[in-house]
Amino acid sequence: MFIRMFMLITGLALLAGCTTSPTGRSQLVLMPESEINQMGLQAFTTIKKETRVDRSTVTNRYVQCVAQAITREVGGNWEVVVFNDSDANAFALPGGKIGVYTGMLKVAENQDQLATVIGHEVAHVLAHHSNERVSQKFAVEQGLGLINAIANPQSGTGQTLMGLLGVGAQYGVLMPYSRIQESEADTMGLDLMAKAGFNPRESTRLWINMSRAGGGQPPEFLSTHPSHSTRISDLNRHMQVALQLQSRAQQQGKHPACK
Ligand SMILES: [Zn+2]
Repeated sequence: MFIRMFMLITGLALLAGCTTSPTGRSQLVLMPESEINQMGLQAFTTIKKETRVDRSTVTNRYVQCVAQAITREVGGNWEVVVFNDSDANAFALPGGKIGVYTGMLKVAENQDQLATVIGHEVAHVLAHHSNERVSQKFAVEQGLGLINAIANPQSGTGQTLMGLLGVGAQYGVLMPYSRIQESEADTMGLDLMAKAGFNPRESTRLWINMSRAGGGQPPEFLSTHPSHSTRISDLNRHMQVALQLQSRAQQQGKHPACK
């Protein structure tokens, strides 16, 4: 009886820890959703305190329009903030937070390219990539301590966590997502933007622009994970599926016109 009970409990623990990503890959996700979301919220608060928020109506209307079209496909409440910073950066955090830097708007030259970026970032969240990374590095019991550490990104743990959440750039923590996670975010993000009615063909154009933008790229868009050319050929391989999703979206009346 005792042994059976023990087996049941271990079985449940394994079930809770080992999940399957949206593309069918098995992954270790240990942090409770509520805790990883709180870490995301805390990280967003920290960034908002230290980075200048862009208040321009035109820019905000444009970015909100693209982001809302994407998040409508996902559900839930998402807050979108534009940051005044010349880096070509963008991120999404667990807990429903999206940040776009004004520098990104120079590289993503139209709504479909910006939708590629935001789709990619939201996909990282949907696929629990931060949770996977934090789970590999920290024990679940540290929960509350970890959330507090994020409020203090100057501390070692705070810095590491910002890096794991994909927003370490401004704190000097270069911690790119793994190649597998990047490819997953690319494919899922492409489907997502296409489902919202955006033109998936512009995704490859974005990565060409990104490689031209060169040196000043933040870690999230570093060329090594994977290389831009691998990225582009993977996207092209998935293009027919995405184009079908887009045409279905358009039949449903989804014609985003963000300016
Ligand atoms: Zn990424």
